[in-house]
Amino acid sequence: MDDLLIRSGHVIDGSGGPGREADVAVLDGRIAAVEPRSARPARRVIDARGQVVAPGFIDIHTHSDFTLPLNPRAESKIRQGVTLEVVGNCGFSVAPVLPGRAQLQREYLASSAPWLEFRESTFADYVTAFPATSVNVILQVGHNTLRLMTAGLDNRPVTAGELGAMERMLEEALAAGAWGLSSGLFTAPGNFADAAEIHTLARVLRKYGAAYSTHMRDESDQVFEAVREAITVAEATGVHVQIAHLKLSGVNNWGGAAKLLAEIEAARQRGVPVDCDAYPYDTATNPLRNLLPRWVMEGGIPAMLERLRVRDVRTRIRDEIARSGLTNFGRIPSWDLVRVAISPQMPENAGRTLGDIARSRGVDPIDAVADYVVDDRGETRILITSMTDADVHEITRAPWVTVGSDGNALAVTGVTGQGKPHPRYYGTHAHVLGPCVRDLRLLTLETAVAKMTGVAARALGLRDRGVLRVGAWADVVVFDPARIADRSTYEEPHRYAAGVSTVVVNGQVTIDDGDHTGALAGRVVRRAA
Ligand SMILES: [Zn+2]
Repeated sequence: MDDLLIRSGHVIDGSGGPGREADVAVLDGRIAAVEPRSARPARRVIDARGQVVAPGFIDIHTHSDFTLPLNPRAESKIRQGVTLEVVGNCGFSVAPVLPGRAQLQREYLASSAPWLEFRESTFADYVTAFPATSVNVILQVGHNTLRLMTAGLDNRPVTAGELGAMERMLEEALAAGAWGLSSGLFTAPGNFADAAEIHTLARVLRKYGAAYSTHMRDESDQVFEAVREAITVAEATGVHVQIAHLKLSGVNNWGGAAKLLAEIEAARQRGVPVDCDAYPYDTATNPLRNLLPRWVMEGGIPAMLERLRVRDVRTRIRDEIARSGLTNFGRIPSWDLVRVAISPQMPENAGRTLGDIARSRGVDPIDAVADYVVDDRGETRILITSMTDADVHEITRAPWVTVGSDGNALAVTGVTGQGKPHPRYYGTHAHVLGPCVRDLRLLTLETAVAKMTGVAARALGLRDRGVLRVGAWADVVVFDPARIADRSTYEEPHRYAAGVSTVVVNGQVTIDDGDHTGALAGRVVRRAA
């Protein structure tokens, strides 16, 4: 007798092919059958008439390692049908933390994970202590974290000894179950690393059959050079490269999506193992301090705070931004396009723009930003509208570009329900399946499902997830294609998506008739040996 039979749904299996009417049987955590009008007996039958039955969605780029310990039910993700999250992205991982370095790590990640405790830990300890959650999790170790542990926030090449230490920590992490290495070359200390340092670490990945993902060195005026740098890692080392949250930031670069996609597609056609992901929004989120020139953070957070009090430093910042735009984001039309998302020390400012804050204080925007960073010790996150819809749509449409929210699993109540975070934390996958498919007709439903299941599984090298096939893990979502939609907005972000009725994770019903059952059936997914 099967555990579960999902009956009479429109099965879209994640391959990109057309859907068909079928029943999906689940037994012992695996798909037991996909067949029309199944006669298999089951302990529980779910009627999926009029709904789509698809593999659980893969959120290929997230930072939920910062929130799953506080929100193990992964509410904002599971309610969209996400059953697997890839975490440890953009160079940031919670572990390893070497003895005496916990405070450094806390200061460094406070703008991303203000409510998380950081303590000394090896990666193996971290994996062992990782909580039971409602979603499956793939863990990566972060290059910025490894560099922070060895060279702090110093702007210099690492010594041979330090590089050796980073290689050893990487090997330990891979042996303990890390899927691969992520880099965050856009910000300190990752941006202090040259290509050779990354290639050395990529060769360690190669030895383990592990992967590399990268938040590139630049996403605005040097985005083409940055894409070439990422492709070169794959070409030089043979390691699979995942380019994170592909975008064109800053007015100088608007309209370049087709050309950027063509550059990556050409590499793929040459056989270079490179994939990319994107979120379907024109607005990014980042620590406020990251808008400032990169040298501002040299030497660490306390050094940054000292520096920002100095009038000449502010003049230099003002000149650099006037000349070349905001670090990582390029030129934007107005400071009203930058708004406070989460400000742990000054929560009352959530939702206000930096333009508004500058006007109300009667200071110029650079002083307003510098004062703000000093006042909150660099812990504030902002939203910045720095992309254009046309580019976002072009990237969203591409059938080979996977879907990554770049967002944390949040809940509308509790500690993660604070501030005004990016709506992508609640709505990325539902936004693609609803507005992008149904309203904007950017892509077909089958293509959209494939991007977040089969195509993502292929990019990760996962064989038994992201597909509805006999023997695969039973990660399944049932949703209404006419109703699925994100409901999270910039003004009211803490709203769950609509239209998902059932989510099954490793065979366990976790969303049942739209409600969370409390099941914590996810597991840490490890690379096959
Ligand atoms: Zn990133």
